[in-house]
Amino acid sequence: MAEGTFATVINCMDGRTQVPLIEWAKDKFGVDHVDMITEPGPDGILANGPEELIRSIRDRVLISVEKHGSSNVVLVSHHDCAGNPVSKEEHMEQLSRSLDLLRSWKMDAKLYGVWVGDDWKVVRIS
Ligand SMILES: [Zn+2]
Repeated sequence: MAEGTFATVINCMDGRTQVPLIEWAKDKFGVDHVDMITEPGPDGILANGPEELIRSIRDRVLISVEKHGSSNVVLVSHHDCAGNPVSKEEHMEQLSRSLDLLRSWKMDAKLYGVWVGDDWKVVRIS
C-alpha cells in the first residue's frame, strides 16, 4: 500500500477545477493526497458513454480505491465546461445518473457529487 492517505476525485480536465478540488478533498476527508482522474466533462461521459471511456475511468477509480485505500470518491460537475457544454440543470441530471452508475460498481467507498460554480468554489450536491 502507498504511504499516506488518499481520496479520489473524478474531475474535469479543466485547469480551473484542479486546485479547488484538491483543497476541498484534503480538507473534507483529512487525507494526504488526492488521486485525480480527469476527462473532459466526466459527468457527461459517465451518464452517456462511450462505454470504453467509462471502463477506463472505472479502472483508474479502482486503482485509487483498492491500491491506495481511498474510501471517498468525488464526482465533479462544473460551470462553463467546454468538454460538456450543457445547462446547469442538465449537469445536475447527469451527476445524479453518474452517481447511480458509480453506486452500481459496489466499491468500498463513500460517493459524493459536487458542483463548481462561476466562483470556482466547491459545493456538495449529494
Ligand atoms: Zn469541464
